[in-house]
Amino acid sequence: MMANETALLTELENNGCKGKLVAIRHLDDLRAELAKQNQAGFLKSEFLNDPSYLAGCQYDYSEIMPIAERELTKGNFSCKRIKIPYKILAVRSGLAQYGRNNITYIHGMGSYYRLVAFATDMPVISDNWQEIEMMPECSSCRACLNSCPTKCIDPDRSVIHGEKCLTYFNESAKPFPDSVGSNWHNSLLGCMKCQLACPQNKTGNPIVEIENPFTEQELAMLFTANDYSELPETTLVTLQKLNLTDYDLPLPAIQRNFKSILV
Ligand code: SF4
Ligand code: SF4
Repeated sequence: MMANETALLTELENNGCKGKLVAIRHLDDLRAELAKQNQAGFLKSEFLNDPSYLAGCQYDYSEIMPIAERELTKGNFSCKRIKIPYKILAVRSGLAQYGRNNITYIHGMGSYYRLVAFATDMPVISDNWQEIEMMPECSSCRACLNSCPTKCIDPDRSVIHGEKCLTYFNESAKPFPDSVGSNWHNSLLGCMKCQLACPQNKTGNPIVEIENPFTEQELAMLFTANDYSELPETTLVTLQKLNLTDYDLPLPAIQRNFKSILV
């Protein structure tokens, strides 16, 4: 069977992935959207000029991409992963809606999923580009706003103050500013407070328990090493499994994050 949109999306769905397609010409619309947000003061220039911030973390999708590749090959089409502002694309394509916390939510999945984008030379017939939408459920809910330690969710505007979000601080190698409270930390990377409080996530569970991921000796080395190269291979593998190396943070930043949640 020739690859087509329906076959591709069905194959992805059969493997636990939801997808939407948009025409490549909307890359220009995406750029215009970012510029508009920048002009409105919602997206600071430091974020606009930082592709790694906009494209988010590049997780390991080695299990997902072959599914799309296999399907597209049937029609002699190809695909390539692209780094792109995932969240805006997900909302503009109708795959997701924004929550008040600016996390994106997919119907039936809540916010516990990961986004990946790829470009393909397969012609797109159904173009899903649409206006940005906030989840209707947010209009009568303030759970995330009330749970946010940094108070960066603003009830008077649709975009959070990203420069105050805890995630912004602990996914950066820069020292925490004095404004970051010592009791705000809750994750080694990122912050889960608003997602855990969200009623739309009540059926999902983001917690995967790994018993004693590090030996006492490994923990001691983790705190005293100057660089990843000084750590044993087993420790590096565990750090990767825990996604703690995904952001290419230097070891001192990871040590800082460990200490912040242990105090
Ligand atoms: S991730 Fe944390 S700091 Fe950022 S908006 Fe959510 S609760 Fe607030
Ligand atoms: S906690 Fe409530 S307001 Fe916040 S994203 Fe979830 S539904 Fe929307």
